[in-house]
Amino acid sequence: MIRVSGPSLGPFARDLLGREPIPRHAHYGPVRDEHGEILDHCLALYFPSPHSYTGEDVLELQGHGGPVVMQLLLSHVLQAGRALGLRMARPGEFTERAFLNDKMDLAQAEAVADLIDAGSAQAARMAARSLGGEFSAQVHQLVAQLIEVRMLIEACLDFPEEELDGLESFGFADRLERLSAALQSLLSRARQGVLVREGMNVVIAGEPNVGKSSLLNALARDDIAIVTDVPGTTRDRLSQAIVIDGVPLNIIDTAGIRETDDPVERLGIERARREIEKADVVLWLADATAGTVEAGPTDPVVMQIISWATAAGASLLPVLNKIDLLGEPEAPVGDDRLRLSALTGQGIADLEQRLLSLAGWQGSAEASFIARERHLEALREAGAHLAMAAQVLEQGPELMAEELRLAQQALGSITGTFTADDLLGEIFSRFCIGK
Ligand code: GDP
Repeated sequence: MIRVSGPSLGPFARDLLGREPIPRHAHYGPVRDEHGEILDHCLALYFPSPHSYTGEDVLELQGHGGPVVMQLLLSHVLQAGRALGLRMARPGEFTERAFLNDKMDLAQAEAVADLIDAGSAQAARMAARSLGGEFSAQVHQLVAQLIEVRMLIEACLDFPEEELDGLESFGFADRLERLSAALQSLLSRARQGVLVREGMNVVIAGEPNVGKSSLLNALARDDIAIVTDVPGTTRDRLSQAIVIDGVPLNIIDTAGIRETDDPVERLGIERARREIEKADVVLWLADATAGTVEAGPTDPVVMQIISWATAAGASLLPVLNKIDLLGEPEAPVGDDRLRLSALTGQGIADLEQRLLSLAGWQGSAEASFIARERHLEALREAGAHLAMAAQVLEQGPELMAEELRLAQQALGSITGTFTADDLLGEIFSRFCIGK
C-alpha cells in the first residue's frame, strides 16, 4: 500500500485517480503514468482531514503488490506530487503526525510500534489494548485525582492561614495515600506490560552433556513452530526466543564457552559475556546421576558464567536434570534444586512456572496493556514526588504544591502532555517506514 498524507491533497488525488474521490469510499480503477499508460489497477481510499490516521488529508493506494509495480507506482506518485513537496516519509512519521495532530496520545503511538513488533499473541493483544487507550485512561484517571488535590492546595495558597482551619481539614494525608496506592497498582500492571513486551533473558549454564540443549528443546517444544516461522523472533545467533504463557523468553546459549587462548575465539567469548550479563535468571543445570549433593558448581566455565550473570543482577536457579535415570525419584534431604527430565518432560511445567515467577509475572489477568521501561520510570518518578509531597505536608502547602506539580508532569510524559522533542525523535525513529 502507498499512503500519502499532507494538507490539501484533494486536487492531487483527483488528478492521480482521474476522478473525484468520494471520502472514505473504495474506488477501483487504473492509475496511469504521465503518458496515459496504465501502471496498475488500484483500490484507492481518500480520507479528508481530520478524519484520517494522521489527521491530515490521506490517500491510500492499494496496488497488486509486486515489488516492481509498487516501485513504479511510488515513483509516479512522488513525481505527480512534486509540486506539493511530496517526499518519502521518515520511519514512524505517519504515527508522529497522528500524535502531533491529537489523533492519539504518546502511549498509544508507542503501542502502534509495539503491536507491529509483538513477539507473542499475548503481546499483540496487550498492545492492541494500549492502542485502544486502556493504559492512557488509567493515567488520565490518576492525573484527574492529582489535579483535584492540586486545586485544593491552590485554594489554601490563595487564602491567608487565619481563614483556614489548617491543612488537616482538607484530608491531604488521606488523599495522598489513596493517590499513591492507585499509582502503585498501575505501576504493578505496567510492569507486567513491560515483561510481555521485553520478555526475560535466561542463561542455561552447565557442564557438557548435562542436557542443556535437550532442556532448551523441551522448553521450546510447543513453540518451535512459532519461533522458526516468524523471522526476527530469534534476535541473535547466540540466543533463542521461546514463549511461555505469553511471556517471551530469550534463552542465551552458552555452548562454545570453553577456555581458550585463541584470540578469535576469545572475541566470541567476550560477546557471549555481554549476552550473559543481560540475563535475568541463570539456570544452573546439573546431572542428577552425577552423584553427591553438591554445594555448588565446580566446573570453572560454569562458575564463570554464573558469576558474570549474578554480578550483573541475575537470580540463580539450580536445576537437576535426568531424574528419569534415578531409581530414587525423591530429592535427598538438603537438596532443594528443581528436579526434572528433559527427556520425559517431567518437571518442565514446574520449571516454567518458576521462571515466570522469578521474572515477576503475576498471570495474564494482571497484564492487560503493554508498557515500556520509559513508562515505568515516569510512574516511579511520579510516585517519588507523591511520597515527597506527603513528607513536606507539615511544612505548609507551597512545598507540597510543587511536588504535586512535578508528579503530574511525570505522569504527563507518559501520554505526551509534557514531552521533550528529542524524546519524540527517539521514539518515532524506531518505527518502521510507512507507519
Ligand atoms: P548438553 O551438552 O548439556 O547440551 O547436553 P545434551 O542436551 O546434548 O544432552 C547430552 C546427552 O544427555 C544426550 O545424549 C541426551 O539425550 C541426554 N539427556 C539429556 N537430558 C536427558 C534426560 O532428562 N534424561 C536422559 N535419560 N537423558 C538425557
